[in-house]
Amino acid sequence: MHIVRKFFHYLNPMDHLGDKKYSVIFPLFINLLLPILSEIYVYVIAANPMMVGAYIIFLNVFFVIYFSFRDGIQGGIITSVISVIYYFYIIYSRHYSNLQFSSGIVTTIILGFIYLCLALIIGWLKESIDSLIDREANEKIRLQTILQQLPVGVVITDSKGQVTQANGKIEDMLGIKIPLGYTVGVDKSLIPGRQKSRQISSDKSPLFQSLKMRKSVIGKEFGYLRNDGKHLYMQVNSSVILNRNGEVIAAASIISDVTQQKELEKRKDDFVNMASHELKTPITSLKLYIDSVSANIKKYHDSKIDKTLISIKKQTGKLQELVSDLLDVSRLQTGKLSFTKEKFRIDTLVTETIEGIQGGEKKQRIIFENPNPLFVYADRFRIYQVLANLITNAMKYSFEKKEIYLRIKKLEDKIVVGVQDFGIGISVSEQKKVFDRLYQVSGKKEKTFPGLGMGLYISKEIIKKHKGEIWVESTKGKGSTFYFSLPLKGN
Ligand code: ADP
Repeated sequence: MHIVRKFFHYLNPMDHLGDKKYSVIFPLFINLLLPILSEIYVYVIAANPMMVGAYIIFLNVFFVIYFSFRDGIQGGIITSVISVIYYFYIIYSRHYSNLQFSSGIVTTIILGFIYLCLALIIGWLKESIDSLIDREANEKIRLQTILQQLPVGVVITDSKGQVTQANGKIEDMLGIKIPLGYTVGVDKSLIPGRQKSRQISSDKSPLFQSLKMRKSVIGKEFGYLRNDGKHLYMQVNSSVILNRNGEVIAAASIISDVTQQKELEKRKDDFVNMASHELKTPITSLKLYIDSVSANIKKYHDSKIDKTLISIKKQTGKLQELVSDLLDVSRLQTGKLSFTKEKFRIDTLVTETIEGIQGGEKKQRIIFENPNPLFVYADRFRIYQVLANLITNAMKYSFEKKEIYLRIKKLEDKIVVGVQDFGIGISVSEQKKVFDRLYQVSGKKEKTFPGLGMGLYISKEIIKKHKGEIWVESTKGKGSTFYFSLPLKGN
């Protein structure tokens, strides 16, 4: 059976598409065999030699088509040339009359021309198809090699989410083989590991989401518990692949192992948390000692010592704020920042915050037109923190401009608080980033101000926890207005 199959495979021109191997021996052999067999047939068996001629022409046409499709232009030319030579041989060897002889020559020339045209057209078509298939196969090999060498995991699926390719890195990462045809996000039974935090279901799978929404899904993180007990953190970016008509033909996911990065971040967070806890107690004691020294020393009425003590107190206060910010950031990272909500007047809180910040010195005028009493349901201390941060920033980044405006607006379902300054402003490209953790604008002017880039991050997280929003409108060099909103209901 195997030999029969091999024989048919050898004969079938479709099986040789893309081979780019064109045989000379096979067409030569068959085309020489045909005249020999025909001659034997004509002289030994045939009753009507004219009929034999018709069969031969039919067979020659078939062979020209067959060999040009199997062995390219050369296969077709070999067949045409041998056929024409054989026709000439027949004309000379059969002792035709003059008329028959000359019409035989003309027919042979016409037939030869038709055979050659057929050989050239079909052979050229066959060779073009071969080149195309070969180019595609090379492209595939090139892509496969790149995929296998990539330091990140890659999974490619068709438009229905069935895996068509997965590289070695993703299989090493997950410690399993991903079967082809496995449908991402649907075949849960085939998910061999256990997802540490959650099962990647179809609506959570970034690849499935990007197929559904026809756009990229970036930076999704998943915890994964491997069968050997190792915990992994993976970051997944998925996107759809469209054809020239804009139809989805495939989707691809790039998966990076971010376990080391996560562990390092956690160690860093743990360190910041521990260090700020350790610093908090001595700073509180320091403040108490300074208060007690100030009380004891008052009776000496020494203005120099008084001034020094006020400075020490101010610096200790700053240190305390810094440590408390550090603690808040670390609590936010670990989800441990707690909130105690109550109903209170936000307008009063604004007035109190302004008074607290300005104290005795009034270098910059903070203008706040007190509106009607406005109640919110929120964590009073945390909202104070947000207000204090926005007002101190406004003062800090508009030092030479004297005015800062505070406004509260009540809308249908929320209140909006705005803090406006006429200071250095923030460029459009930086406006979103200033709310990121430890982000500071890196311009020449900005670098002259002290700070660690924690205030706006903490404010953003606090407002987010109240289901509100925080944003900035600003023009570089002209000033900024920071807004935050708090919903009136349902937070
Ligand atoms: P910090 O002020 O401690 O650096 P913040 O998180 O409060 O940290 O602010 C982040 C960055 O945003 C600042 O470094 C500053 O560049 C920019 N910024 C904040 N508020 C203002 C403002 N009112 N005007 C101009 N730039 C500001």
